[in-house]
Amino acid sequence: MKTVFGPVPSRRLGQSLGIDPVPFKTCNWNCIYCQLGRTSPFTLERREYVPRTEILEQVQEVLDRHDPGEIDWITFVGSGETCLHSELGWLINAVKQETEIPVAVITNGSLLHLPEVRRELQAADAVLPSLDTASERLYRKINRPHHSLTLDMLISGLRDFRAEYHGQLWVEVMLIKGLNDGERDLQALAAALEYIRADEIHLLLPTRPPVEPWVEPPDEVTLQRAQLILGKRARLVIEISGTFDLSSERSAVEALLSILTRHPMCESNLLAALEKWLPGKGAQTLESLRSTGRVQVITRRGQRFWSMAQAHYTEEMDNLPDMRLKGLTK
Ligand code: SF4
Repeated sequence: MKTVFGPVPSRRLGQSLGIDPVPFKTCNWNCIYCQLGRTSPFTLERREYVPRTEILEQVQEVLDRHDPGEIDWITFVGSGETCLHSELGWLINAVKQETEIPVAVITNGSLLHLPEVRRELQAADAVLPSLDTASERLYRKINRPHHSLTLDMLISGLRDFRAEYHGQLWVEVMLIKGLNDGERDLQALAAALEYIRADEIHLLLPTRPPVEPWVEPPDEVTLQRAQLILGKRARLVIEISGTFDLSSERSAVEALLSILTRHPMCESNLLAALEKWLPGKGAQTLESLRSTGRVQVITRRGQRFWSMAQAHYTEEMDNLPDMRLKGLTK
């Protein structure tokens, strides 16, 4: 599977060419809202998971195939934690020598307490770390980090990075109904974000299939209150649909699998987008990928999503009796 995918339509970064530098679900957090299922391997090890030259060659190939203006951002966005790749700094600098397209890094931010990680990210045009709460208890409950990572390390790492970094720092906050959307928790979070001095605060909702089926977005009133408390730098980032590019691999099907590995998609958006690349054959192609065990359908709050088969989601309660039955009849 290639590490470069797309371009795909991004909620904030227009048509974004993705670079995924770590193997599937290699992460040091195991967030309850992760759209890619449960974390495995759960690790803190930084290393060159994919050879840096191989990644750069793939970026060069894709850039050669696209005209100026077709790609808005080049985004390091892992199907795990991007900063676990030990050559991230080299890669950002190498990509910037190839093109003037701005480079963004999406990270959970948990390794920003390490001076070398902060140094490596300096060349990026935008860095998008996460901070979902200012409570250690909620940090453990929502992000389920590696036991050696504390909230203090996360917040002080973000603050130190802000002091050293001159690009755009956009902190992502995932809002979850009944967990981090209470008034007192939001006020504590607003104080932490003030201390970090982010340029923007991006409020996200768990609209893609969360690993835990009980994870839900807050209601409209709570959302408005959250925006008020978090202040004028906070804005809600709405999920968008749009075209994606399936020309980055040998076949449209391989490119589709490459995208689904990083971005599970809701069925209606997926079928609409597939019409351009596989006219009249979208549904049939998906069904054949499912019957051969390469992709799966996940249902969340009545909506069907397509995701890679290797992602492990917690089953919805409604489906449990069937699962148990299957287990008994095996
Ligand atoms: S949402 Fe990001 S940080 Fe959280 S478990 Fe998934 S890949 Fe890791």
